[in-house]
Amino acid sequence: MAPGSLVAACRSLALSTWLLSFCFVHLLCLDFTVAEREEWYTAFVNITYMDPATSDWRTEKTECGRYGEHSPKRDAKGVVVLPASAQHDRLACDPNGRFAVPMQAVPWVALIARGNCTYKDKIRHAAAQNASAVVIYNVGSANVNDTITMPHSGTGEVVAIMIPEPKGKEVLSLLERNITVTMTITIGTRNLQKYVSRTSVVFVSISFIVLMIISLAWLVFYYIQRFRYANARDRNQRRLGDAAKKAISKLQVRTIRKGDQETEADFDNCAVCIEGYKANDVVRILPCRHLFHKSCVDPWLLDHRTCPMCKMNILKALGIAVSLRKKEKKRTL
Ligand SMILES: [Zn+2]
Ligand SMILES: [Zn+2]
Repeated sequence: MAPGSLVAACRSLALSTWLLSFCFVHLLCLDFTVAEREEWYTAFVNITYMDPATSDWRTEKTECGRYGEHSPKRDAKGVVVLPASAQHDRLACDPNGRFAVPMQAVPWVALIARGNCTYKDKIRHAAAQNASAVVIYNVGSANVNDTITMPHSGTGEVVAIMIPEPKGKEVLSLLERNITVTMTITIGTRNLQKYVSRTSVVFVSISFIVLMIISLAWLVFYYIQRFRYANARDRNQRRLGDAAKKAISKLQVRTIRKGDQETEADFDNCAVCIEGYKANDVVRILPCRHLFHKSCVDPWLLDHRTCPMCKMNILKALGIAVSLRKKEKKRTL
């Protein structure tokens, strides 16, 4: 491979690498700008009840809850109450379903299972009966300790949290044994979760593909240009070579005779081989009247088309026109 083409190959390789890294940087930037952030809060769930077997008060506190998306982030407290209608299986989906609210006017917390209707419906049904908070326990998730940030816009000022299934079942079993459980909900830690939405993934992919296509198109264009350039150069070189042959055939040839002035000692040597002329040497006389050995100057003229002494262009001197591509004219002439 010629050094020139090696340099060109390196240059194009560097360029493609640059374009590719540009694409990746672009992709990362998009990831950062388009990614959506979700803020959510955990909730401490404190349950207090009297153990009927020992008559001891028991208290458990865990940071297992998660506030609903539209819930006010504040503390709440009350006696835990289930939906009264057992046939609805603790789901609180029926708007006419009642909760087993205690007779005394104490704040109470609704405990509802997830499923069958929206979180919003469940929370509104409990809030309509003056619950101070709504606790929905997760059901059927892949990981038993999973909770989600429930969406429930338009449920007003009632506190809504989700707790994992085991915790819900634990409180449920206490209530089913007619034990009064008091629950206190307090704010836990703030979390910031970043995720890329589906639309941004599509957007990022499309822009990445577009950039890849642009870079590929550029590379293809670059190589086509190089190919065309090399082709044109070859064609021009061939035409110039043909023209040079034609010009050489028109140039005068002479054989030196004994006693000619060229054989004298003070006459200039052949500028190509730096040797004097002898009798029987065949010389070529150029339009500028400079002469050289035929065997010395013919290969030079084929390559350069100029006199080695005065640089006169033999094509111009003989009026031989060569039609060259404009772009190449400057470089090859
Ligand atoms: Zn010579
Ligand atoms: Zn000359």
